[in-house]
Amino acid sequence: ERGRLARLRHKPAITLDGQRVELLANIEMPEDTVGAVKAGAVGVGLFRSEFLFMGRDTGTRQTRLPDEEEQYQAYKRAVEGMQGMPVTIRTIDVGADKPLDSISANKQEHLNPALGLRAIRWSLADPAMFLTQLRAILRAAAHGEIHLLIPMLAHASEIRQTLSLIDFARAELDNRGAVYGHVKLGAMIEIPAAALTLRIFLKHFDFLSIGTNDLIQYTLAIDRADESVAHLYDPAHPAVLRLVADTIAECRRQGKGVAVCGEMAGDVAFTRLLLGLGLRSFSMHPSRILAVKQEVLRADTGKLEAWAKGVLESDDPAAAMAG
Ligand code: PEP
Ligand code: MG
Repeated sequence: ERGRLARLRHKPAITLDGQRVELLANIEMPEDTVGAVKAGAVGVGLFRSEFLFMGRDTGTRQTRLPDEEEQYQAYKRAVEGMQGMPVTIRTIDVGADKPLDSISANKQEHLNPALGLRAIRWSLADPAMFLTQLRAILRAAAHGEIHLLIPMLAHASEIRQTLSLIDFARAELDNRGAVYGHVKLGAMIEIPAAALTLRIFLKHFDFLSIGTNDLIQYTLAIDRADESVAHLYDPAHPAVLRLVADTIAECRRQGKGVAVCGEMAGDVAFTRLLLGLGLRSFSMHPSRILAVKQEVLRADTGKLEAWAKGVLESDDPAAAMAG
C-alpha cells in the first residue's frame, strides 16, 4: 500500500471530473518543509509559528522569545524550503493546549485555558511581541509568497485591532527603510461565533481557513485535551458539519479562498464529504497527503454534491457517510 501511494507523489490531485484540488502541508518548524515537499505538498497551508516560541525555558523573557531577526530567518527558511510554493504562516497561538513553557504549563493561572488568553487574544494583549512577529513575517514575504493567517478571531473589534497593527508594522518597516513583501490576509474559523458571522470576516480577509480541531471543541463544549470526554469529540456532529459547510459555501459565493487545516482535512473518512461541500484546499500533516490524494483521484465531485447534502441533513452523518 505504501509503495502504491508513493507513486502518487508527483501526480496532480485532480478529481475524475477534472476538479483541481490543493493538498497543502501543516508544519511546525521551517525544517518540516523538507518532508512537505517530499510528500508532494503544493504549499504550506498552516505553519504553526508558536513552535518557534515554545520550550525556551532558560534565560530572561527577552531571550526566551525569538527576536525579529531570528523569526525572520525562520520564516525565510520556510519560504525557501517550499521552493516558490506559497507558505501560510499563522501568527502565534500559545495558551491552552500549547503552553509557552513549562513555567506557564505548571502554573494553574487560568481556570479555563481553552477559553482564556490564547492565540490572537494573547497577541493583542502584548502588541510589542505581536508587532515583532508581524514585521518578521512581512520581511520574509520579500522572499516568496506568504499568506498571513490569524488564529481564534471572534469579534469585529479584534479584527480591527489586528488589521491596524498590521498597518502599523508596515509603517515601522517603512520608517526603517526595510524591505518587505505583500501578504494575503486570512482568518481562521475555529470559534462558532466566527462561523456564524462570516460576513464580517469576508469583508476584511482574502481567505478563510477552518480549524476544525478547535471548531469541534468549542461547538460541542468538549475540551480537546480531556480524555474523559474524548468519546464525545465528534467531527461528524451535524452542528460541526453545518458550520463547516456554511463557511465553505459563503467563501465560494464571494469568490474568496477557503481551506480546512484541522485534522478533518487529513482524515480520509471526510475527503469525499469536504469535496462534495465544495472544498478544494486541504491542509494536513505531510504523512496524510498521499492517502487523501488517492481519495481525490477517485472522486467525482458532481456526484458527491447531492450526496453531501444528504449527509448534512442526516441525524447520523457518520453512518450516512459510511453508507
Ligand atoms: C485547529 O484548531 O483546527 C487548528 C488547525 O489549529 P490548532 O490545532 O493548532 O489549534
Ligand atoms: Mg486551533
